[in-house]
Amino acid sequence: MDVPVTNFDVQIDAAVRDLAARADSAVADVWRAFEAVERHNLRRILAAFVRYGVGSAALDYSSGYGYGSTARDAVDTVWADALNAEAAIVRPQIVTGTHALALCLRAVLRPGDTLVSITGRPYGTLYTALAPGTGGSGGILAERGASYTEIALRPDGTVDAERFERECPRQVRAVLIQRSRGYALRPALTIDGLERIIGVVRRIAPDAVTLIDNCYGEFVEAAEPCSVGADLIAGSLMKNPGAGLAPTGGYVAGRADLVELVAAQLTAPGQGREVGPLLDTNRWLLQGLFLAPHVVCQALKGAVWGSWVAERLGIAVAPRWDEQRGDIVQCLMLGSARAALGFCRGVQAAGPLDAGATPVGAPLPGYDCDVVMAGGTFVQGSSIELSADGPLREPFAVYMQGGLSLEHARLGYELGLSRLVADGT
Ligand SMILES: *Cc1c(COP(=O)(O)O)cnc(C)c1O
Repeated sequence: MDVPVTNFDVQIDAAVRDLAARADSAVADVWRAFEAVERHNLRRILAAFVRYGVGSAALDYSSGYGYGSTARDAVDTVWADALNAEAAIVRPQIVTGTHALALCLRAVLRPGDTLVSITGRPYGTLYTALAPGTGGSGGILAERGASYTEIALRPDGTVDAERFERECPRQVRAVLIQRSRGYALRPALTIDGLERIIGVVRRIAPDAVTLIDNCYGEFVEAAEPCSVGADLIAGSLMKNPGAGLAPTGGYVAGRADLVELVAAQLTAPGQGREVGPLLDTNRWLLQGLFLAPHVVCQALKGAVWGSWVAERLGIAVAPRWDEQRGDIVQCLMLGSARAALGFCRGVQAAGPLDAGATPVGAPLPGYDCDVVMAGGTFVQGSSIELSADGPLREPFAVYMQGGLSLEHARLGYELGLSRLVADGT
């Protein structure tokens, strides 16, 4: 007997259901490629656990100052190895990806230095933290007495190497490279693309620190930015590498001398990485890393599946289902506020928490328009869990990401897209 377990079935539109039935086999080859990346990355990460000899002492609770915490050393060393970096600092005391990036910039920039953003306008919250052009007040640039140059992306969203070569100032200390698209309509950088850009920076400004905003990029491919010469990378544990298990936190990884500077910035010179308890987060930081290749694979499979189905419903998507991916983000251009809100409401209805909530647009610090967000996540604001969000302005793009399981991502797309069809938008 075929008993409907919930009312989900009646919420799914017939056209969406037909496409959903065909989508798995249509995207199967792409899924297989993601599985190969997962296999590779899991083995790489397990090898890091084995090399370090992680034992149950790595799960011990540490409190207070965290002096001599073996758990902290295990977490930092295994994460560094997994990210192909010389060193890493992974902490619940780094509270967001923006915080991790701000630590890097504060650690590296000195008076008279220049920071160059080679991928155009940085992510909103980071741009707010930098606060270019505000003179004496507020942001990191003013605080450090540093200048800032932005190299706009080409119209097709790729890095303009010629312009970088022409406009890169002599005193450049650091070059910021953002891997994921953020709220911009540009493709994410693949590891190959990143390698080319790092090559250009090395040629023009050999001493500049290459700082990668690695948010959403971890374990999407078989190599990581430090494998292709990145000096410093930073990201959020509420995204890919926390795998939905890390309850909070951020990381910085890269060259050992630079990670030391970042550690001194996070705590104090002379204390650096030697203080800072992991409390009871160590288990989640280690198990999250262990699970990350799988969760990222699930999220990627969901993204490709959703891209295929959405495109067949006449929705403009980026990336398309068979395009190479450098992050887990799937962008749907929905064309109107009504459609963006409708899609997000469908995704919210698929959430394990607050499924009855109705997402609305609201102002968000660092953004120039209202933003809608849908989630219902176990970890607040987590976007490795299934989530959709977007700025409510032309072209009303919604950015869908995460899904701890493919089945959950699939349901999110089914309900989101069905809501669009039902609304006639
Ligand atoms: C999410 C994100 C950030 C900031 O991370 P938070 O944890 O939200 O502070 C920075 N850059 C990019 C590209 C991101 O996607």
